[in-house]
Parts: sequence; structure tokens; C-alpha cells
Amino acid sequence: MSPAQGWQAVGVGILRWVGSPVDVNCTLVRGDDVALLVDSGSTREEGMELRRAVEKELGGQELVVVNTHAHYDHCFGDSAFPESAIYASAGCVATLRQTGPAQRREAAESWRDEDPDFAARLEAARIVLPTQPVEGEALLDLGGIKAQLLVTGRGHTDHDLVVVLPELGALLAGDLVEESGPPALEDSYPLSWPLALGRILALGPQLVIPGHGQEVGRDFVARQRDQMDQLAEWCLGELGLGTRVRDYRGAFTPAALRTALERAQQELSAGPSPTAPTGPPEDLLP
Ligand SMILES: [Zn+2]
Repeated sequence: MSPAQGWQAVGVGILRWVGSPVDVNCTLVRGDDVALLVDSGSTREEGMELRRAVEKELGGQELVVVNTHAHYDHCFGDSAFPESAIYASAGCVATLRQTGPAQRREAAESWRDEDPDFAARLEAARIVLPTQPVEGEALLDLGGIKAQLLVTGRGHTDHDLVVVLPELGALLAGDLVEESGPPALEDSYPLSWPLALGRILALGPQLVIPGHGQEVGRDFVARQRDQMDQLAEWCLGELGLGTRVRDYRGAFTPAALRTALERAQQELSAGPSPTAPTGPPEDLLP
């Protein structure tokens, strides 16, 4: 249950803590006045462990929590931070309200054989809703460091939020970027995902911390954008809306490709996103 490594320094002023058994990144950014914790782990117990690690770092400094999206491994630890304001996209709040109990049940079920203790902790997770819903974007002044919370439009989910840290040249991407495995497609919008990655790249970050795995640079994100672009093209071809790309597989298993196709079909029938950004966001990074 304990992450073996504790905090790892990622660039200047950023600490990363890795959950277990789901290797989710929980990231701490410390300003002069306020500290920011991005994502809170999978269960209340994991959240409490994270909280103890945070308190050891911060002493009594004010802590604000951000959830990048509503998947359980990023936000079910929120209940360990009752004194903190919790920011998330408005879509994340709505999704968590709608899917939280089902996610808890399904996640517990999926871990039952492999890790029954973790499954029991998941089952007992108390789901709390983020207190500060963000529409579009919000700017937090941490003291010496600003954090821009930016809703990127459809991608890994329909409510992904990234945290841009202009002074540190860094961006916390949630699962819009994944390093330790191929991008997860279950709730995705495969046709829009490459556009969301394009928006991230337009911000010019030097350092990107993914939802899972090691920190990466711009090149990695550009490659993932290209990969998602090819996946979108493949989906359109399969659905009769473009040139058929034969033998495409990329980094995805046949099962993942079937998921991508189903999601692309749903994306097309869902129509345009009501919250899609219309252009690249203002360039905040130097
Ligand atoms: Zn996710």
C-alpha cells in the first residue's frame, strides 16, 4: 500500500508521489503562500497517506486540491482533505456525481482477485464532490507561482483539466498524456483527443507530468498527439468517413481499437462539444 519512493522531485518546485497499486501521479506544487496538490489517489486510505506526506512537507501551509478528471484513481482520495478547497472542471463534478458509485463498484470488482485488500478499500471509498467547479479556466495565485487551471475540451474524457505552471515551464496533464502505458480509451473522445494535445503543445511547456508514469518533454507529447491523430484517422476510415487505413494498430491492442471505434461512433453521434474551446488558449508559458 505504501509507495516505495515517497516524494520525488520533478524539476524545480514540483514533487511527485506515486499511488499504489494504481501508479497514479499525485503532484505537489508549493508557492510562497499556498500549495497545490493535483490528484488525490484511489481511496481514502491512500488520500490519508498522501495527506501525511503533504503535511510533512508543508507544515501548516494552506493546501488546495485539484482533480484533473473524475476517474477514481485521481479523485477518490479527496475525502482525506476536508479542509481544502477542491477544484475540478464543472464537467468533472457532474460526472463524479453521475458515475461515482458505479465506478466504486466496478473498480472494486476489477481488483477483487488481484488485490482483495485494495478492492475492499475501494468499496469503502467516500466520494466527495469538488467544491470549486471551473468553467473554461481559472487562475490561482500560490504566491510567487501562478497555476492556470484549463479545461481542454474532449480528449481522455469530456471534462479533462490541465494545470499550467508558467513560472516553472511545466504542465500537469492528467491522463490526456500517459507515459507508463498507451492512452486509456474507455471514456475517451478519440476524434477530438489530438486537438486537446495540440492545445497543450501550443502552451509551450518544457516539462509535462502525465497522469501515469515519468515526466516527459514536448517531443513525447507531440508523438502522442501524432499517435492519437493516426488513431482518429483509422477510426474515421473504419466508419466509412475517410480513407481506410489498413493494418493500423499503433500502440493499441485489438480490444483497445474496438473501444476506440465504439467511442468514435458515439462521439460522432453526440455532435459538437458544448464546452469545446474555440482556439488555442492564451500563451502563458515563457
Ligand atoms: Zn483517467
